[in-house]
Amino acid sequence: MWFKDTFILEISDGRALIGVPNRFNKKWLEDKYRPEILETLKKFLKIELKGLEFVVANRSSLRPRTDDQSIIPNADYQSKNDHNLSQDYTFETFIVGKNNRLAYAAAGAIAESPGSVYNPLYLYGGVGLGKTHLLHAIGQDIAKRKPGLKIIYASAESFTNEFVKALSTKKMEGFKNRYRNIDVFLVDDIQFIAGKEGTQEEFFHTFNTLHQKKRQIVLSSDRMPNKIPETAQRLTSRFGWGMVADLQPPDFETRAAILERKAEKFKIELPRSVTELIAERITSNIRDLEGALNRLISYHLMTKEPIDQKMAEENLEDFFIANESQRPGPEGVISVVSDYYQVGKDDLFGPKRTKEIVLPRQVLMYLLRNELSVSFSKIARLLGGKDHTTVIHGCQKIERESRRDRTLKKDLSLLKALLYQEGQSI
Ligand code: ADP
Ligand code: MG
Repeated sequence: MWFKDTFILEISDGRALIGVPNRFNKKWLEDKYRPEILETLKKFLKIELKGLEFVVANRSSLRPRTDDQSIIPNADYQSKNDHNLSQDYTFETFIVGKNNRLAYAAAGAIAESPGSVYNPLYLYGGVGLGKTHLLHAIGQDIAKRKPGLKIIYASAESFTNEFVKALSTKKMEGFKNRYRNIDVFLVDDIQFIAGKEGTQEEFFHTFNTLHQKKRQIVLSSDRMPNKIPETAQRLTSRFGWGMVADLQPPDFETRAAILERKAEKFKIELPRSVTELIAERITSNIRDLEGALNRLISYHLMTKEPIDQKMAEENLEDFFIANESQRPGPEGVISVVSDYYQVGKDDLFGPKRTKEIVLPRQVLMYLLRNELSVSFSKIARLLGGKDHTTVIHGCQKIERESRRDRTLKKDLSLLKALLYQEGQSI
């Protein structure tokens, strides 16, 4: 509540001027939240900020064009309702392209008749490709159609934390009642339970109870069920019982459409050249697309400078560089492939020629060549001194096979998504 009617008035010389509704609020924010606000702004606007100043001011006279759509996220997250669902993430605001059509259709089908079409629905894809958005959209849509149903959205992380807390405070009964008596269970980033045996056990029982009662379960993950490491097979096999649908990075047209739709939301007309600039340079992650656009809009609102190509280039330069530098190095590719196929580096680099090892090894060659443009002879050296004709052969084989083998094709897209995600966290 302290952030309501709080907004950025101006940013100049590395200092942000924050408008607040009254003196009381001003004092409170100054005393308690200064560092947090500074951090949020730096992160959100991605600019260098040295300081903050609060002034009492009225927003309505200053920002008539943005309605009440504050582009600075409210710290108390007002857009959440009783279901803990974000109102911004709906089917209406989800742009459908070739990359996500199947996932979108499946999500729509279960929202229409929860518990009876695909159970569970398992959505997977790289970071920032809309998994969380779809989970919320399903929840919102069901809540609208059937207001009586009990819906829980939970990240696997919060499920884990709650479980651990319930254990330590001896409140397991309450925990079980909470999760086993609902109609719709939306679980985000299920891969988080990898290696956590107690949580897996509890989740297994929750899953079974809900599934037997024909309650809808939706799971999201960054990889296919059978590729989640250190997770009991009885669990991962259940993940594949209903429908498994993937989200791929969007193509250029979809990226452009997403940008246009977001700009429209802020009642801002984006010149085509700007849309194209952003859509061409930011390719692997929708969250980053939004981030770039938010930056331009914030800057435009604060400076009143029109959004055009020059302004976009100036403001987004470091953003584009950052996006490119997310490209991982050879080490990153090696560890992603090794992790994905669960094949150790010794085997990848060694002489073994069994199918389980040759495929990952050739995929590794292919990714090094195609994603990082490493020379054939360098790949041969990286892989423990193989012959470079072996590398050429391997790359060609994957290239050829991926055209007709759908599983391999999917593996490759997912590996690419994981690569860029990996790069981000470094
Ligand atoms: P994930 O959970 O897969 O990492 P999110 O669902 O958090 O990704 O999506 C990241 C951001 O991109 C969100 O703000 C979301 O609204 C937006 N987004 C993702 N996919 C789409 C889409 N198809 N259309 C519109 N916005 C999208
Ligand atoms: Mg997510």
